Amino acid sequence: QQQLILQERPNGLPNDSTFQFKEVEEGTPKDGEVLLKTLYVSVDPYMRGRMSDAPSYVDPFKVGEPLAGGVVAQVVETKSDQLQKGDIVRGNLPFQEYIVEKSDQVSKVQTNGLDPSAALSVLGMPGLTAYFGLMHIGKPKRGETVVISGAAGAVGQVAGQLAKQAGAKVVGIVGSEEKANYIKDKLGYDKAVEYKKEDFGKRLKDACPDGIDVYYENVGGEISDHIWPMLNTFARVPVCGAISSYNLKEGEQDIGLRVQQFLVKSRVLMQGFIVGDFSDHYADAYEELANAVSKGNLYYEETIYEGFQKIPDAFLGLFSGKNIGKQLVKVSDP
Ligand code: NDP
Repeated sequence: QQQLILQERPNGLPNDSTFQFKEVEEGTPKDGEVLLKTLYVSVDPYMRGRMSDAPSYVDPFKVGEPLAGGVVAQVVETKSDQLQKGDIVRGNLPFQEYIVEKSDQVSKVQTNGLDPSAALSVLGMPGLTAYFGLMHIGKPKRGETVVISGAAGAVGQVAGQLAKQAGAKVVGIVGSEEKANYIKDKLGYDKAVEYKKEDFGKRLKDACPDGIDVYYENVGGEISDHIWPMLNTFARVPVCGAISSYNLKEGEQDIGLRVQQFLVKSRVLMQGFIVGDFSDHYADAYEELANAVSKGNLYYEETIYEGFQKIPDAFLGLFSGKNIGKQLVKVSDP
């Protein structure tokens, strides 16, 4: 069985020498442990931060050790009273085809009839992130204008629909025409603005004739520089991420300093946040999201690559916008 190792810390965009697949023993569970078969692996932009050794809100990955993140897995052998063979669980786990783990480090997945992949997307970390950033910080009111960058991604696809349900006028910023159509046709955004086309600033202004009351920040950089002068009095800016800065090379941050990524890391006002800040409210938010999905009020898509070997491609694709909705890797069937 294989494991995915951080071979070398990247400087700039990760490449082939960042990753290494390694053959490892399967392992057998001891008392209180289970043997898990990986079904789905989540690749997330924040993992790029963990590949460097700069201090942040999660510890860096160690060179020579497996990458880790959101995983949905199935119990194939158990030495624990808490989990039975066949149970499907989620956890923050090493990227490896089979994993031995303490049973209290994972939780059973409840996805109300949805594919368990939902536990890594709409009913998992990205869904919760969208919910808390928008509802607890953005607090959109009826009639206000909400702009969301990264609008067709895992977080953006949920945030946009929640803003719409709050009665706001919702404008999404996206990197392609396909995504523009997705957010308007499937998610109900009022307008989509493509940032890779000419006159982005002008088209953004045209899409927001009343200015911007809530900017849900996912990308940072030049895109967001167009936002700041358009913010209305008492506008709210939940700073969720700044993906455009994640692959800057050493030293590049000094040229054209972008403040957004530091806001996320340090959660300074404007307001940077991480989903874990709201852990006391997970259960309620989960319930709201799950209800909305089951009633057909919350749509979501997942882009799923097949095979453990595809994890690096899937991860890198986040930085070139290959994904619509949540990017996942399917490793095996239950
Ligand atoms: P997405 O599913 O949105 O995938 C990333 C998307 O970002 C791509 O599809 C691409 O879409 C866009 N993108 C990539 N590079 C750039 C760039 N240089 N400029 C503008 N857009 C770019 O990822 P997530 O939904 O998982 O994450 C979205 C953001 O939320 C990230 O910044 C992430 O770090 C952050 N996040 C923060 C959390 C928190 O707790 N604070 C938790 C989870 C996520 P396009 O084709 O439109 O360019």
